Amino acid sequence: MALHTMTMAELTAGLESGAFTSVDVTRSLLDRIASHDAKLNALITVTGDAALAAAAKADGDRAASNAGVLNGLPIIHKDIFCTRGVKTSCGSKMLDNFVSPYDATVVERLSAAGAVVLGKANMDEFAMGSSNETSFYGPVHNPWDLDCSPGGSSGGSAASVAARFAPAATATDTGGSIRQPAALTNTVGIKPTYGRVSRYGMIAFASSLDQAGTITRTADDAARVLGVMAGFDERDSTSVDVPVPDYLGEIGDSIKGLRVGVVRQHFDEGLDADCAVTVKEAIAVLESLGATTVEVDLPNIDLSVPTYYVVAPAECSSNLSRFDGVRFGHRAENADDLFDLYCRSRGEGFGDEVKRRIMTGAYVLSAGYYDAYYLKAQQVRQLIADDFRKAFADVDVIAGPTTPTPAFKLGDKVDDPITMYLNDIYTIGANLAGLPAISVPCGFVSDLPIGLHLVASHFAESTLLRCAHQYQQQTDWHTACAEGFA
Ligand code: GLN
Repeated sequence: MALHTMTMAELTAGLESGAFTSVDVTRSLLDRIASHDAKLNALITVTGDAALAAAAKADGDRAASNAGVLNGLPIIHKDIFCTRGVKTSCGSKMLDNFVSPYDATVVERLSAAGAVVLGKANMDEFAMGSSNETSFYGPVHNPWDLDCSPGGSSGGSAASVAARFAPAATATDTGGSIRQPAALTNTVGIKPTYGRVSRYGMIAFASSLDQAGTITRTADDAARVLGVMAGFDERDSTSVDVPVPDYLGEIGDSIKGLRVGVVRQHFDEGLDADCAVTVKEAIAVLESLGATTVEVDLPNIDLSVPTYYVVAPAECSSNLSRFDGVRFGHRAENADDLFDLYCRSRGEGFGDEVKRRIMTGAYVLSAGYYDAYYLKAQQVRQLIADDFRKAFADVDVIAGPTTPTPAFKLGDKVDDPITMYLNDIYTIGANLAGLPAISVPCGFVSDLPIGLHLVASHFAESTLLRCAHQYQQQTDWHTACAEGFA
């Protein structure tokens, strides 16, 4: 079995038995990235020398019986996570020259557990996008069809895992950016509960929605990585101090008796007919494993996209005000005065989508419009969260499609922001309500992968991982690999 095809579980077994070393694995994956990434543009930075040094250290630690739980396992970080001494661009010209002086908590914890960082993944600029086309570094191509988008904003993370550059990548999700690209690339993406994983050192887009998670090929690997990333961090005031369960230990438990809610509103016009059939077949597999299904109502869910596109831009306009060309980031040359420096640095450093969001956000927060838009959106957000709370009185998970269609062609939606925004119609609700959610490969439509989306109540990541794992034991969609990347 070639090293690049192995999951973290398989690599761990091989490292433990001495069949190969972390240096062998790291070398093989770096070679693979060198020979294949020109087709995908999935990585912004490859940290080859540092990766080989970390792998050698991991091998030494193992020999000294001092191996962490992720000892010697390769990982790729979305370029939104600060990495000490390494460029951290967030997909933007604004941060093209930014070398972080510190590690994000997520990065620190994974490295402390022995993971080996291969590089930093391409992404939509400041995580704003659904196609990876807003990146300053150019779009990422989907390994399943190079003319298609891998989704976004974590498109580089998803394409890397789908192309077998690494068994796992970190990612972030503000409105669907982990789950949508996972669905479009035949990978598993989990967004944990808001507050479960520290946001310290994760460049902020919309602080009340942003959450870090993982992209892997199996739920089992997701459990391994999430178990290390999750947990209280005093450096993030929104991090929640509740114990992290043994995700991996619980993953094998049966889902017999699990109550699965199927949202009535998720199977109407917006959904591609073939996707609907495929997702219903996936839900039938859960039933065959002993789950029971009931129809549930989320009466306000249709308002989630418009609500999100008020709340997220409002928070983004505030978060991105720090990029002013003074303290760090892009600085315009030959400014006339301070105001001119701000205007030109921001005008040159940000791309169109980011500017659109900042302007929308400033507008909805402005004195005359605050009540009509921002306050109203916060009220609707509460209604959506209440709908979920009521639904979870009767069910353990809510199942449906992750996306309305399979991957779309690069260029197809880039000039039409509203159509682009509608891509996240099934995923945004979980962010507005702070709920954990996962996408798991569930079949192919027009030869392109799609995902089954599962949402659970707060801090019930274990239920999602268990459900996804049991589904993967029963199906082999996730083992399929894009042609040219096997
Ligand atoms: N596609 C959504 C947006 O453009 C979500 C992005 C995300 O989750 N980071 O805002």
